[in-house]
Amino acid sequence: MTVELICVGTELLLGNIVNTNAAFLAEQCAALGLSCYYQTVVGDNPERLLQTVRTAFSRSDIILLSGGLGPTKDDLTKETVAEVFGAALLEDTASREMIAAYFQTRGKIPTENNWKQALVPEGGRAVANRNGTAPGIIMEKEGRHVILLPGPPDELKPMFTEEIAPYLRRLSGEVISSVTVKIAGIGESSAETKVADLMEKQGNPTLAPYAKLGEVHFRVTARAKTEAEAAALNAPLVEELKKRFGSFVYTTDETVTLEKTVADILQRRGLTMTVAESCTGGMLAARMVNVAGVSEVLKAGFITYANEAKSSLLGVKEETLRQFGAVSSQTAGEMAQGAARAAGADVAVAITGIAGPDGGTAKKPVGLVYISCYVCGEVNTQEYHFIGSRMKIREYAAVSALTQLRSMLVS
Ligand code: ATP
Ligand code: MG
Repeated sequence: MTVELICVGTELLLGNIVNTNAAFLAEQCAALGLSCYYQTVVGDNPERLLQTVRTAFSRSDIILLSGGLGPTKDDLTKETVAEVFGAALLEDTASREMIAAYFQTRGKIPTENNWKQALVPEGGRAVANRNGTAPGIIMEKEGRHVILLPGPPDELKPMFTEEIAPYLRRLSGEVISSVTVKIAGIGESSAETKVADLMEKQGNPTLAPYAKLGEVHFRVTARAKTEAEAAALNAPLVEELKKRFGSFVYTTDETVTLEKTVADILQRRGLTMTVAESCTGGMLAARMVNVAGVSEVLKAGFITYANEAKSSLLGVKEETLRQFGAVSSQTAGEMAQGAARAAGADVAVAITGIAGPDGGTAKKPVGLVYISCYVCGEVNTQEYHFIGSRMKIREYAAVSALTQLRSMLVS
């Protein structure tokens, strides 16, 4: 089955907001095994929207529309689709009640135009919106399926996951099952080179790489009649990836992040952790705190931006700072050991570097970062050269610190 996306909104055309709904929907559809051949962005203009919907209707089995379901005058997606279907707009009692309840629980009074959101084109089905007032709508005609979704991502995403994805799955009559093999510590291009032959001869399952900052994810996806059959098709390719990437694979669980993996290893081994951050200014600590329950391992963190703080809080020797500088492997090592001592932690990770855009020299260019990991008396310090904006360099430093610590813990 083919699917087509239409994102409605003049602010999307103007570049005022980024079309994250398109990215989300396209990725979800691919995971459902649907082929997406067209994506369109169209403004809040009735004629152009009508034309766009008609064109989509003529060439795609499933049309997903996002945006323009709100109460205001420029929200006209529903009206336009009703026109294409030649359907009258009728009030949907359940939707009206949900809108009333939405306002009541928030202690607000609906305005007259809010009730417009309870209108559903004749023959259409309203889909409840748990996070807003505009219901989604599913319509079918001549074997075509048109699905209207609210524009705000925190309404669209849960509605898609909970209601629309199961609907689309039933349509296709097939089961699509994916496994994500997550890898850290290898660059994207060398990771892809390692599996070039697998990428080339893929069929069912398919193999798709996704580069994340400092990580590479491979998604293995099979289609079959049953979940068990799809899982059986995926298994050999997942095993092959694990074999090729060895300990660089940190999980095959979609829900597990790199920081979660690190926290789990520490917790399993009964180790506590601390961080000492200079150029990342708390990013590493923030990543660890992404993990629910991390308080069992993360004791404290130090943001030691000034030299003086590195000395007074972590005991970095003034002589070290003078001789090697704040951005040096020696300072990083002393920061890590000092942090472990000061926090009474078994494990410490220290980061010091030049995030730019200024402050670089020929010997110490922007992007130079030292990361030091202290694990129960043992210290490992590495030098990195990151490229990119100040933000990117800092993000790379935080993810590399997680990767370096993990590799020290699992080796
Ligand atoms: P509302 O009831 O809020 O008016 P709506 O369904 O009419 O919702 P829009 O008016 O088109 O949707 O968009 C509302 C908001 O949702 C936008 O201001 C924007 O923040 C967000 N939004 C809309 N479309 C997209 C999109 N394609 N990607 C990301 N965000 C979007
Ligand atoms: Mg709107």
